[in-house]
Amino acid sequence: MKKTILLTLALAVAMPLGAQTIVNGSIKSVPRQGSYQPTFKSDGANKKPLNIILMIGDGTGLAQIASGYFANNNQLTVMNLKHLGLVTTRSATDFTTDSAASGTAYACGIKTFNYAIGVDLAKNPAPNIPEIVAKKGIVSGVVSTDALDGATPAAFFAHQPNRGMANEIWADLPESELIFFAAGDKERFESRPDSTQKAVKEVFTVVDNLNDPAYAKVARLGYLPTKVEAGYIVDGRTDFLPKSARYAMDFLKDHSNRKKGFFLMVEGARIDKACHANQFESMVKEMLDFDKAIAEAIKFADEDGNTLVIISADHETGGLAVAEGNPARGEASGNYVYTWHSAIPVPLFAYGPHAQDFMGVQGNEEVGQKIINLLTGK
Ligand SMILES: [Zn+2]
Repeated sequence: MKKTILLTLALAVAMPLGAQTIVNGSIKSVPRQGSYQPTFKSDGANKKPLNIILMIGDGTGLAQIASGYFANNNQLTVMNLKHLGLVTTRSATDFTTDSAASGTAYACGIKTFNYAIGVDLAKNPAPNIPEIVAKKGIVSGVVSTDALDGATPAAFFAHQPNRGMANEIWADLPESELIFFAAGDKERFESRPDSTQKAVKEVFTVVDNLNDPAYAKVARLGYLPTKVEAGYIVDGRTDFLPKSARYAMDFLKDHSNRKKGFFLMVEGARIDKACHANQFESMVKEMLDFDKAIAEAIKFADEDGNTLVIISADHETGGLAVAEGNPARGEASGNYVYTWHSAIPVPLFAYGPHAQDFMGVQGNEEVGQKIINLLTGK
């Protein structure tokens, strides 16, 4: 009894030190968006997928997905899928990962240190998926609502020991194996050194819209929307993510070298950013927009028949809990306990040939390895 009282006292004293403020947020009357119902024709097929689309919801744990689902009348395309797994996300050095280490785990199939972009523990460049599959004639692209030098997209084309090295990351772009990118933003690119801008423009046709049909035919295309066009939904972004994602799929399929296939990474980056700010409503809007991009990928997979779509996250952000909602009225609310990432495993959804390979519990680096093995035919 005495021990229990002492323990309770000790906890009462210790708790305020470690505990963080719980921030509540809610969303009301969300305009409903439909979900796409997959055909499941190619789902779980045993043939090698020609194309792989990896969709990373930055900071997207089950609570973030559920918030979007409840607020949208119990509808999300991702929730219509059948092959599910869990992904553990810790980095080589930290219990809780950042987007750089987790992005590198997905992109290169290795565990590394927080802040690392495409380098191993010894800071040596680690080959990424676009570099590895290019040797097989497979083309690659990235799409993100983050800056292109943001940790997640950067892991798929750059090799730098610190995610903050924006100029060096942009300078890696012309050396990369990407043939398509769409990410933020025009203003950011124009503030890079002239030599970097010149080098990027020598390799990519750099545009600020996708409207000219001639763009679809160039060898390598870079789409840089304005800061607002790639910014938060609540600040005026419209259809940048789903539209660019679909454009990327068609562009890469068209450019796939003698039909050898493609790899595409699509990131919903601002789910994480909204959670860092403990902005529940903004997060839900970002989640619903990410689901529109997911619907585009699943539709493409159904049309194509040879495409595997993998949807997961690099980590959860905010330690979000959801306990209140009214799906019929488009309402949900949640509580955040952190302003940083949490270490809880994140859900993975897969659709298409070999979706079954991604069931069960796996490390984020294993997901990267499986993608490499499937595309290179190992
Ligand atoms: Zn984050």
